[in-house]
Amino acid sequence: MVSDEKIEEIKKELMSLGPEEQQKKFQEILKEMDPEEQKEVIEKLTGKKAGGGEGGCPFCSMAKGEIPVTTVYEDSDMMAILDINPANKGHVLLFPREHASILAEVPDNIVSKMFVVANKIAKTQFEKLDAKGTNILVSNGQIAGQTAPHVLVNIIPRFEGDKVAIGWERKQVPEEELAEIAKKIEIKPEPKKAEIVHEEGLKEETRVP
Ligand SMILES: [Zn+2]
Repeated sequence: MVSDEKIEEIKKELMSLGPEEQQKKFQEILKEMDPEEQKEVIEKLTGKKAGGGEGGCPFCSMAKGEIPVTTVYEDSDMMAILDINPANKGHVLLFPREHASILAEVPDNIVSKMFVVANKIAKTQFEKLDAKGTNILVSNGQIAGQTAPHVLVNIIPRFEGDKVAIGWERKQVPEEELAEIAKKIEIKPEPKKAEIVHEEGLKEETRVP
């Protein structure tokens, strides 16, 4: 539980700083708290400033610049920030500026762009952080492990022996059932549209090893 006095104190402290120091200080303050307290502080700071828009979604507030974040990419549709409690250092959260609780609610053109950006971030993790692998992960719904109210693409750099657990036990499914399921969820490709996704943000020589 974070007291209102503490919240006011944090607010005052942040307000007295320039945007860059504000980011740093906010990260420092959050680092000293457990995840519950972090949520509370983010929500309380957001709720007051955003007037509870989108139910006080912290990521909507970040998108509006109301909460200081460490940004690694942004454009008019989306932003990517460093996770303050990363699975590994360099763990990036990419999300649309427009509120959506799961990826299925995000318009197709934004989903396409997000995947391109996610891949660029992953390439950069290989190149600049010397990652030996990356995970690009979206959890849709609580049962899938989603904890944020706003859809997030997690881009996690992976390193030898990093003990990040992403996995499941494999189940056995009879062949007939596989065929039945495939019939149910099969999707026919849409007719081709001329759509150009522009390259930006990454240097030519950036490649996945
Ligand atoms: Zn949101």
